Amino acid sequence: MRAMDYRGPRRVRIQDKPMPVIQHPRDAIVRVTRSCICGSDLHLYHGMVPDTRVGMTFGHEFCGVVEAVGSAVENLSIGDRVMVPFNIACGQCHFCKQGLFGNCHESNAQATAVGGIFGYSHTAGGYDGGQAEYVRVPYADFGPTLIPDWMDPDDAVLLTDVVPTGYQAAEMGGIQKGDTVVVFGAGPVGLLAARSAWLFGAGRVIVIDHVEYRLEFARTYCPAEVYDFREIGDPVVFIKKLTDLGADVCIDAVGADASGNAWHTLFGKKLKLEAGNAVPLHWAINSVRKGGVVSIVGVYGPTGNVIPIGNVVNKGITIRANQASVKRLLPRLIDHVREGRIDPKAIITHRLPLEDVAEAYHLFSSKLDGCIKPMLVPTPD
Ligand code: NAD
Ligand code: ZN
Repeated sequence: MRAMDYRGPRRVRIQDKPMPVIQHPRDAIVRVTRSCICGSDLHLYHGMVPDTRVGMTFGHEFCGVVEAVGSAVENLSIGDRVMVPFNIACGQCHFCKQGLFGNCHESNAQATAVGGIFGYSHTAGGYDGGQAEYVRVPYADFGPTLIPDWMDPDDAVLLTDVVPTGYQAAEMGGIQKGDTVVVFGAGPVGLLAARSAWLFGAGRVIVIDHVEYRLEFARTYCPAEVYDFREIGDPVVFIKKLTDLGADVCIDAVGADASGNAWHTLFGKKLKLEAGNAVPLHWAINSVRKGGVVSIVGVYGPTGNVIPIGNVVNKGITIRANQASVKRLLPRLIDHVREGRIDPKAIITHRLPLEDVAEAYHLFSSKLDGCIKPMLVPTPD
């Protein structure tokens, strides 16, 4: 089969790889019909995530058709159209029983923090991902969810990661009616977080980034007040003035690849002495009001970060963070899509064949050609 292949930072290509096979009775093989590139893939692509091994296939946001099932998978049939949550979760362990499907205790032997994730380095289990024609799906009797007949597959593929992540970012913010919510990052996750903030009762939604075309999109899609952080002076002072007491809720939808502070860029991204550039997190902690909530879905590497923890304590801030628990949120989100309250596919700007995977990474990483969300089409519907 054809599959994406990681060769080292900023080098990916397409090549022939062996067809995946059933290795366990709970496995399925899925033929991939849509596979998106996520901001999390950019952390891998930029060499920010430890133990990302040459030869790995990325891709954790995909949907497709069931091609084969193991002997223990009774709820799926060959030919079923499924969306596959990015978390690999057993559905049975202590954490899965609490709905913490991003923290499954069985699917990642390498760590006790995050569970398994498709195509996300050996720190997340070392599973090959879905930027390929076929993918092995472990615990297939639990994770994959049938795509409803009425649903556009372009919406379905986004329900496997970016929509639940944005929605959970808003949910973890504990938004109260009328709250002012500031979202850092106008990438796919930030856009969906800002959009979801309204569903939780926000009274005012502000989005901060420095990519003009993304801010323009956010202005109407979310909809939100938007600001370019290069034009507002100190973002913390600016947000405090804008909101009087500070924002009620701040959401970090940027993560380790952030820009906006030369010191953190040098130490975090160039010298790798901290786990990426954590400046959005600084801005969030420092601009939220006292007693406010900071919700983090931006991904940071597992090693140290220099963050203003003293301010967290002195301000009595609640910090909530996690990988999204996709399977828990899907029933609600399917409803929101059916009722038109969330329109996921509007963020897809590029549709490319799998053969163009290198081009797709380049467009998305360098923010070229108005790219918000690139989608690969490995095999036809
Ligand atoms: P993206 O790279 O497309 O978007 C990030 C945006 O942040 C960009 O538009 C960039 O210009 C902007 N940005 C950079 N520095 C900034 C700053 N200092 N302040 C404000 N904006 C800044 O990525 P995405 O797909 O939207 O993903 C965003 C983050 O969410 C990533 O860290 C990704 O790994 C993470 N993520 C987490 C989960 C989860 O379950 N927790 C799931 C998916 C993605
Ligand atoms: Zn992702």
